[in-house]
Amino acid sequence: MPDCIFCKIARGEIPSAKRYEDEDVIAFNDLNPQSPVHILVVPKQHIESAADITADNAHLAAKCFEVIAKLAKENNLQNGFRVINNCGPDGGQTVPHLHFHLLAGKKLSEKIV
Ligand code: AMP
Ligand code: ZN
Repeated sequence: MPDCIFCKIARGEIPSAKRYEDEDVIAFNDLNPQSPVHILVVPKQHIESAADITADNAHLAAKCFEVIAKLAKENNLQNGFRVINNCGPDGGQTVPHLHFHLLAGKKLSEKIV
Protein backbone atom coordinates (compact mmCIF):
# COMPACT_ATOMS: atom_id res chain seq x y z
CA MET A 1 0.00 0.00 0.00
CA PRO A 2 2.62 2.57 -1.06
CA ASP A 3 0.16 5.46 -1.28
CA CYS A 4 -1.29 5.00 2.19
CA ILE A 5 -0.27 7.91 4.41
CA PHE A 6 -0.21 5.89 7.65
CA CYS A 7 1.85 3.12 5.99
CA LYS A 8 4.32 5.83 4.97
CA ILE A 9 4.42 7.18 8.53
CA ALA A 10 4.93 3.61 9.85
CA ARG A 11 7.85 3.17 7.43
CA GLY A 12 9.33 6.52 8.47
CA GLU A 13 8.88 8.00 5.00
CA ILE A 14 6.68 10.82 6.31
CA PRO A 15 7.58 12.59 9.56
CA SER A 16 5.32 12.38 12.58
CA ALA A 17 5.40 13.48 16.20
CA LYS A 18 5.93 9.96 17.47
CA ARG A 19 4.62 9.01 20.92
CA TYR A 20 5.23 5.24 20.86
CA GLU A 21 6.60 2.59 18.54
CA ASP A 22 7.21 -1.15 18.60
CA GLU A 23 7.32 -3.84 15.92
CA ASP A 24 3.52 -3.88 15.52
CA VAL A 25 2.18 -0.47 16.50
CA ILE A 26 3.04 3.17 16.03
CA ALA A 27 1.40 6.12 17.83
CA PHE A 28 1.79 9.78 16.91
CA ASN A 29 0.10 13.11 17.49
CA ASP A 30 -2.85 13.94 15.25
CA LEU A 31 -1.99 16.76 12.85
CA ASN A 32 -5.30 18.46 13.63
CA PRO A 33 -5.81 17.89 17.38
CA GLN A 34 -9.36 17.95 18.73
CA SER A 35 -8.27 17.97 22.39
CA PRO A 36 -5.07 18.77 24.35
CA VAL A 37 -4.04 15.12 23.98
CA HIS A 38 -4.94 13.64 20.59
CA ILE A 39 -2.84 10.63 19.67
CA LEU A 40 -3.47 8.22 16.80
CA VAL A 41 -2.68 4.59 17.62
CA VAL A 42 -2.07 2.63 14.45
CA PRO A 43 -1.14 -0.97 13.64
CA LYS A 44 1.82 -0.97 11.25
CA GLN A 45 0.18 -3.61 9.09
CA HIS A 46 -2.19 -2.13 6.53
CA ILE A 47 -5.69 -3.04 7.74
CA GLU A 48 -8.17 -0.81 5.97
CA SER A 49 -10.73 -0.37 8.72
CA ALA A 50 -12.40 -1.95 11.74
CA ALA A 51 -14.57 -3.81 9.24
CA ASP A 52 -11.46 -5.71 8.13
CA ILE A 53 -10.48 -7.11 11.54
CA THR A 54 -10.35 -10.91 11.37
CA ALA A 55 -9.16 -13.81 13.51
CA ASP A 56 -5.78 -13.44 11.77
CA ASN A 57 -5.17 -9.79 12.58
CA ALA A 58 -7.30 -9.17 15.70
CA HIS A 59 -4.18 -9.42 17.88
CA LEU A 60 -2.98 -6.18 16.28
CA ALA A 61 -6.17 -4.35 17.27
CA ALA A 62 -5.80 -5.78 20.78
CA LYS A 63 -2.20 -4.57 20.86
CA CYS A 64 -3.38 -1.07 19.97
CA PHE A 65 -5.48 -1.13 23.15
CA GLU A 66 -2.49 -2.26 25.19
CA VAL A 67 -0.60 0.74 23.79
CA ILE A 68 -3.54 3.02 24.60
CA ALA A 69 -3.43 1.89 28.25
CA LYS A 70 0.34 2.42 28.31
CA LEU A 71 0.04 5.91 26.84
CA ALA A 72 -2.70 6.75 29.35
CA LYS A 73 -0.39 5.82 32.23
CA GLU A 74 2.62 7.61 30.77
CA ASN A 75 0.62 10.78 30.13
CA ASN A 76 -1.16 10.80 33.51
CA LEU A 77 -4.61 10.42 32.04
CA GLN A 78 -6.03 9.09 35.30
CA ASN A 79 -9.05 11.38 34.89
CA GLY A 80 -10.01 9.42 31.82
CA PHE A 81 -9.90 9.52 28.09
CA ARG A 82 -11.94 8.63 25.03
CA VAL A 83 -11.05 6.16 22.27
CA ILE A 84 -12.71 6.65 18.89
CA ASN A 85 -12.60 4.58 15.74
CA ASN A 86 -14.25 5.96 12.63
CA CYS A 87 -15.11 3.20 10.17
CA GLY A 88 -16.02 3.70 6.54
CA PRO A 89 -17.72 6.65 4.83
CA ASP A 90 -20.77 6.78 7.13
CA GLY A 91 -18.47 6.48 10.17
CA GLY A 92 -16.47 9.50 9.04
CA GLN A 93 -13.22 7.66 8.29
CA THR A 94 -10.92 9.83 6.16
CA VAL A 95 -7.71 7.76 6.25
CA PRO A 96 -8.31 4.19 5.07
CA HIS A 97 -5.83 2.52 7.45
CA LEU A 98 -7.17 1.31 10.82
CA HIS A 99 -6.46 3.74 13.64
CA PHE A 100 -7.76 4.63 17.08
CA HIS A 101 -8.02 8.23 18.27
CA LEU A 102 -6.93 8.69 21.91
CA LEU A 103 -8.49 11.93 23.13
CA ALA A 104 -7.89 13.43 26.56
CA GLY A 105 -6.62 16.40 28.54
CA LYS A 106 -9.95 18.14 29.09
CA LYS A 107 -13.54 17.29 30.00
CA LEU A 108 -14.80 15.97 26.69
CA SER A 109 -18.21 16.80 25.26
CA GLU A 110 -21.25 14.65 25.91
CA LYS A 111 -21.28 11.25 24.31
CA ILE A 112 -22.50 11.03 20.73
CA VAL A 113 -24.30 7.70 21.21
P1 AMP B 1 -10.26 9.60 10.58
O1 AMP B 1 -11.05 10.78 10.09
O2 AMP B 1 -10.86 8.88 11.73
O3 AMP B 1 -9.90 8.70 9.41
O4 AMP B 1 -8.92 10.20 11.16
C1 AMP B 1 -7.84 10.58 10.39
C2 AMP B 1 -7.01 11.51 11.23
O5 AMP B 1 -5.70 11.54 10.68
C3 AMP B 1 -7.52 12.95 11.25
O6 AMP B 1 -7.81 13.31 12.61
C4 AMP B 1 -6.35 13.76 10.70
O7 AMP B 1 -6.16 14.97 11.36
C5 AMP B 1 -5.18 12.81 10.91
N1 AMP B 1 -4.05 12.95 10.00
C6 AMP B 1 -4.08 12.96 8.64
N2 AMP B 1 -2.83 13.03 8.15
C7 AMP B 1 -1.99 13.04 9.21
C8 AMP B 1 -0.58 13.11 9.37
N3 AMP B 1 0.26 13.17 8.31
N4 AMP B 1 -0.06 13.11 10.63
C9 AMP B 1 -0.88 13.05 11.70
N5 AMP B 1 -2.22 12.98 11.62
C10 AMP B 1 -2.77 13.00 10.39
ZN1 ZN C 1 -1.76 1.75 5.25
